[in-house]
Amino acid sequence: MNDERKQRRFGRKAISVEEARQAVLRHAEPVSIETLGLVDAVRRRAAEDVFAPEPVPHFRRSGMDGYAIRSGDTKDASSANPVAFSVIDNIPCGTVPREAIVSGAAARIMTGAMVPDGADAVVMLEMTEPRENGDETVISVKRHIPSGANVSAVGSDLMQGEPVIRRGERLGPAEIAVLAAVGKPDVTVFRRPKVAILSTGTELLAPGEPLQPGKIRNSNSYMLAAQTANAGGEPAIIESVPDRLDIAAGTIRRLMETDDCDLLITTGGVSVGDYDMMTDFLYEWQGELLFNKIMMRPGSPTSAAVFNGKLLFALSGNPGACFAGFELLVRPAIKKMQGAADPGPASIKAVLDADFPKVNAYTRYIRGKRRVEDGSVFAAPVGEDRSSMLVPGLGADCFIVIPPGGQGVARGTLVDVLPFDDGKG
Ligand code: AMP
Ligand code: MG
Repeated sequence: MNDERKQRRFGRKAISVEEARQAVLRHAEPVSIETLGLVDAVRRRAAEDVFAPEPVPHFRRSGMDGYAIRSGDTKDASSANPVAFSVIDNIPCGTVPREAIVSGAAARIMTGAMVPDGADAVVMLEMTEPRENGDETVISVKRHIPSGANVSAVGSDLMQGEPVIRRGERLGPAEIAVLAAVGKPDVTVFRRPKVAILSTGTELLAPGEPLQPGKIRNSNSYMLAAQTANAGGEPAIIESVPDRLDIAAGTIRRLMETDDCDLLITTGGVSVGDYDMMTDFLYEWQGELLFNKIMMRPGSPTSAAVFNGKLLFALSGNPGACFAGFELLVRPAIKKMQGAADPGPASIKAVLDADFPKVNAYTRYIRGKRRVEDGSVFAAPVGEDRSSMLVPGLGADCFIVIPPGGQGVARGTLVDVLPFDDGKG
């Protein structure tokens, strides 16, 4: 290896994960927007602020099945002194009351129906005793019913002009319901960023290919596609390329230039090995290199660059390192491209549930699993945490963050934990 190639591999300057995240976010530009019907907008992020164009409810609405009355009539009501009302109307949902309520009168009313003028309370059906008096129904009430009881005031759910959805917010079932409730059949959302995924490595076979000596199956592309989908992106798996700079360079250039790719992720070939041609590629192409070494384990050779305003992530080939690179850096970028105000990854505190005695030069991200006991969150490493092992990732739901330095971290210490993206956030 000549001196220049050695320098590329070993002379890299490591930055912190947070510096790397900020560098990436600076270049994560929002994608274009589109207007979709509510059902198609589920899991998208809003590209507009939505304010309630009308109050909800827009009429005084009964919260109970019962009788609409004037509360003042029940001022002195008690078991010893029941107050009688004659029932003058019957108000199903969706209809308009025929009569206003005067003192001594009541209207039978259903949950969700319009409270008649004159009435200021609804007494629950169960609190009344009806009796027939000729062809008239009379009810008696044995307690004081306060003004406003079981009546939802106009705008009590949402005032007119109140913000209901903010730009960048993710639309889940509650947000979709609110949009429908305020009379918006469609909503403007961010497009799903198109994410091209390219694995590099002469050893790689597609999952459907028969095994061959010395070769392994490409699992990273599928893992990254699943992570991309969870983050709201639209993954496209590109056929993997061998460790040949000319072939990889051609494919990458083509992808960075087409409109079918908003962001490119490669895996493999960023390390110090003889065939790690992504290291050479990033030096030789016309793009701007953002970083090529991060103070994190696994995944220290994780690199990123920008070309034509598009981000290129060159993640490590080790499955564990590849996974970490995505969660810590690619996921925030994909979220910001959809307008997310706080693209994460979110961090919570948890009690470390096992000793972690290793001394670390870099911050370590250990795959772990959380449990809650007596209101506290505990997190324990899952399996052996070697970045090259794929299977220990099963069952993990978070990274446990082990800071650098010291003599490791003892069980019982409060640590930062980064929950994995489960596609819900
Ligand atoms: P590299 O980063 O290219 O040095 O790869 C590191 C390790 O990860 C090697 O053992 C590779 O065989 C393995 N590896 C690389 N790419 C993939 C992939 N797409 N799927 C699964 N394992 C991979
Ligand atoms: Mg490789």
